[in-house]
Amino acid sequence: MRRPFIAGNWKMNKTVDEAVEMVTELKELVAGVEDVDIAICAPAVDLYAMNKVVADTNIALGAENMYWKESGAYTGELSPAMIKSVGCEYVIIGHSERREIFGEDDQLLNLKLKTAFAEDLNPILCIGEKLAERESGAHFDKVEFQLEAGLSGIEAADVKNMVLAYEPLWAIGTGETATPEQAEEIISFIREKVAKMYDQKTAEAVRIQYGGSVKPHNVTEIMAQPNIDGALVGGASLEAESFSQIVKFD
Ligand code: PEP
Repeated sequence: MRRPFIAGNWKMNKTVDEAVEMVTELKELVAGVEDVDIAICAPAVDLYAMNKVVADTNIALGAENMYWKESGAYTGELSPAMIKSVGCEYVIIGHSERREIFGEDDQLLNLKLKTAFAEDLNPILCIGEKLAERESGAHFDKVEFQLEAGLSGIEAADVKNMVLAYEPLWAIGTGETATPEQAEEIISFIREKVAKMYDQKTAEAVRIQYGGSVKPHNVTEIMAQPNIDGALVGGASLEAESFSQIVKFD
């Protein structure tokens, strides 16, 4: 059985004080939750202080990005060791904003994934199509391509432990959600694709989240789909109350 996994992605929001205030509130609200994995992926400058609040709780931390080299002349970048040193277990790789605004391509993301595995971090690899691709019916081809390129050369043992997040770009921050049926259709396609690339066991083990305007009022229906194992939550993860309601989805 795959354990549900609800992760927040704060993007470029919250100063250190605001971050500490939020997780202080959140840890009380989700204190009794034992059957769901919970993580907050936060801006790098917030993580050290957040870790002081959530260490030894059921809230894990993640980074929103990292570079694939260990150290060196890469001004502005963060290494895997740096994000681990502030308590991160997870790292988001290839969020659509990184792909679209910062020009990250599948080859670079593949290198980041390999580094994350080598450094014992759990990557959350984001994949998903643009509106035009959905409208022209190219969404299956798009996620297939992203999986093949992103996972190239990666072992089944690593894929089993990673997280995939299907996030259609047209649903991110727009208030427009894929219907639970649309999300289930493509997420089951992604699972089948993992089975073809690897094997059935790997496909059954890998957790696949849906992301795109997940809110307290729609999470239950989304989580009721058999292939959807969790959610990657942007806007609704910024407030402790709404994020805790999503964590307690049923
Ligand atoms: C995201 O940024 O990954 C996301 C899904 O955002 P939102 O929930 O705000 O659509």
